[in-house]
Amino acid sequence: MRMIVRGARLLHTHGLSDVEVAEDGRIARVIPYDDQKEPPATGILIEAHGGLLSAPFVEPHIHLDTALTAGEPRPNASGTLWEGIACWTERKRTLTREDVIARATEVLRWQAAHGVLHVRTHCDITDPDLTALDALLEVRDRVRDFMTLQIVAFPQEGIVSFPGGEGLLREAVARGADVVGAIPHFEDTREDGVASLHTAFALAEEHGLRVDAHCDEIDDEQSRFVEVLATLAMRSGLRGRATASHTTAMGSYNGAYSYKLQRLLSRSGINLVSNPFANLGLQGRFDAYPKRRGLTQVKEMLAAGVNVAFGHDDVMDPWNALGTANPLQTALVGLYAAQLTGGDEVPLAFSMVTERAARVLGLAETEYGITAGAPASFVLLPAPTPEEAIRRQVRPRYVVSRGTVLAETPPAPTRLNWPGEPPSEVDFGRRLR
Ligand SMILES: [Zn+2]
Repeated sequence: MRMIVRGARLLHTHGLSDVEVAEDGRIARVIPYDDQKEPPATGILIEAHGGLLSAPFVEPHIHLDTALTAGEPRPNASGTLWEGIACWTERKRTLTREDVIARATEVLRWQAAHGVLHVRTHCDITDPDLTALDALLEVRDRVRDFMTLQIVAFPQEGIVSFPGGEGLLREAVARGADVVGAIPHFEDTREDGVASLHTAFALAEEHGLRVDAHCDEIDDEQSRFVEVLATLAMRSGLRGRATASHTTAMGSYNGAYSYKLQRLLSRSGINLVSNPFANLGLQGRFDAYPKRRGLTQVKEMLAAGVNVAFGHDDVMDPWNALGTANPLQTALVGLYAAQLTGGDEVPLAFSMVTERAARVLGLAETEYGITAGAPASFVLLPAPTPEEAIRRQVRPRYVVSRGTVLAETPPAPTRLNWPGEPPSEVDFGRRLR
């Protein structure tokens, strides 16, 4: 054996388990933990001490090309979407291959440390030189042995309304983008928006790719492109392979239309990605009080059987000056924003940055999960349950990718000198004295 993880808690399994990793970096078997049994003499031994062993975190929506540009060339003083776009337009002119590679790689390093091993990044391709795309394609190759990077050809300024937009989208796909993007609500007219989705789906079908559109990211209740996207997904060969990201207009739809939409979206098999950081910050900016929250219908769509995941979106860029690309932080903010605060709902937020996000990327069930034959890629969390991992915002003790330890975080409890008591350690676990 190459590695054994002893005494780990697995999701959906009672008791503790041992996970054995074969020399080829795949999981050989998962067996019940026996504390009487001696650990094997060879191979890497990881004692889990009852910690949760989960399949790795999955980031379904990030922008690695814009990441770490906050403040360049100037800070977004108002914090609005529109000033963010103005800042980015200025910064975009100075992009170089080295600049994009350095920033994207830095964020991927943070993600690896957090246990994110599968990432879908959007990449602005409304640039005649496609500088960022070429750089990200290079990064994808550099990390491919230990991380999955999917690149969405994202037409930030439009497909139909931007001069040469369709040509750039085609060129991005020809150069190797994994997923076709769109931004229908940003196109000049409703008709242009619909046409842009037809173009994106046709291109994806032609090349056997998936679709992931920034869709209805606006507080306008008249923005209804998600119904077009869902219908195209149903009628094309892309059922289950299409994603609508943001869909914040859904937070403003009336009850009758929402009901119709729930039925349509659940039939269509599309995925939704909600990005709570960006949209709590950017939406509702034109509202007086009461001010809308600007999120999609997370709870309602989950209840309707739609696959919904949480994405981090921006990391230290003109639209979000903060962030460390930490999926447990996304889950925490997302569960409050979407009011997934009921007893059974908190673990849902964990699934939205793991299993549900994996479905957005289309990771095969045989390639993702703690099961014999799957790649030995997982995170060992110093917490027994998803709820505890989110509540205490723990960092994985170990991140293992295909049988190799990629990141290790030693426990770092706080030493407390509580008056009248000997020094003790605090790690925010609930141990009553
Ligand atoms: Zn986005």
